[in-house]
Amino acid sequence: MSKDVPFLDLARGVEAIAAELEKAALRVIRSGWFVLGEEVDAFESEWAAYCGTRHCIGTGNGLDALSLTLTACGIGPGDEVIVPANTYIATWLAVTRSGATPVPVEPRWQDANIDAELIEPAITTRTRAIIVVHLYGRPAEMVPIVKLARSRGIRLIEDAAQAHGATFWGRKTGGLADAAAFSFYPTKNLGALGDGGAVTTDDDEIADRLRLLRNYGSRRKYEHEVAGANSRLDELQAAILRVRLRHLDANNARRRSLAAVYSRRLHGTPGLRLPLVTQDREDAWHVYAVHHGRRDDLREALAREGIGTLIFYPTPPHLSGAYAGLGIQRAAFPIAEELADTNLALPLSPQLHRHEQDQVVAAVTSCASQLAASGATPRMR
Ligand SMILES: *Cc1c(COP(=O)(O)O)cnc(C)c1O
Repeated sequence: MSKDVPFLDLARGVEAIAAELEKAALRVIRSGWFVLGEEVDAFESEWAAYCGTRHCIGTGNGLDALSLTLTACGIGPGDEVIVPANTYIATWLAVTRSGATPVPVEPRWQDANIDAELIEPAITTRTRAIIVVHLYGRPAEMVPIVKLARSRGIRLIEDAAQAHGATFWGRKTGGLADAAAFSFYPTKNLGALGDGGAVTTDDDEIADRLRLLRNYGSRRKYEHEVAGANSRLDELQAAILRVRLRHLDANNARRRSLAAVYSRRLHGTPGLRLPLVTQDREDAWHVYAVHHGRRDDLREALAREGIGTLIFYPTPPHLSGAYAGLGIQRAAFPIAEELADTNLALPLSPQLHRHEQDQVVAAVTSCASQLAASGATPRMR
């Protein structure tokens, strides 16, 4: 009997570099300084350098990184922000939290990212920004979107929460737009041991406002220029992230190599659609998602074989309770809905063993073949 393959085992990632992490944590504990200090300054410089931007501003989490960026751009009530219909709900919630209204745009079926051609028709006189999400770690189609945003005088913001280290035409995500928001939630490609986030930007003004906004609107103690938030990356997480950053490229390379094995060995599996592999951009492979017309049956069959999988995401934001108030009906965004109904993420993390991946490949192949033999599967587009 082979052992179960978990979807993700965070403890393994910690174990692999435990001595380094413990040393960094101890350094902070013994320093007696825990919020906005040397570790955050150092991490901000290192992450800005990695992304190729002039500034990095640490925040408490990825959601705040996004919503405070919108606020820093002067976006608020009465404004519209274009968002992908297919994304984690945080992208939409950031817009809502800023006071603006999210305006969803369909993804492309091929890569699950926002369809650049459908953005322009969604622009109104109230549109102030576009948020692109590099979903699953695959950079969105930036060239036409950058052009469009420039020509219309609209802010362009990257939600890069899943795309640490991904590149588009050789340039890192985080440096492809006016500003970019990152999350360092523990499961992300660059993960803290708790919550954390950051914004990268080349824009001095956005950076300056973000430094105010994340810290009670204050530059000097008890002087409050604007009504800010309390959303700071803490020293402990910054010290942990500095260690993890040193391993990011190697970990992403390992993800790429595992993804290539899946794509080669699962090619031709009946009923299964594999993720798009792109030449002009380097995918960070945060998620390796396949699509299947009987996704729930496939997921159950794999679970019986001891293979852990996850769905990213089962419900698009417009159909969630949080956005019932927008009154968007089912079938309004058919591609986003079909992606939600058919996606299934396979185990893929830097610490996944080759023999575990062999088990996943064998189980997916046999389960999909059995499903194909056992009756009709709804067609995917
Ligand atoms: C994780 C994530 C976020 C939010 O990050 P938090 O740190 O959890 O607040 C935003 N957008 C996307 C696409 C994400 O995957």
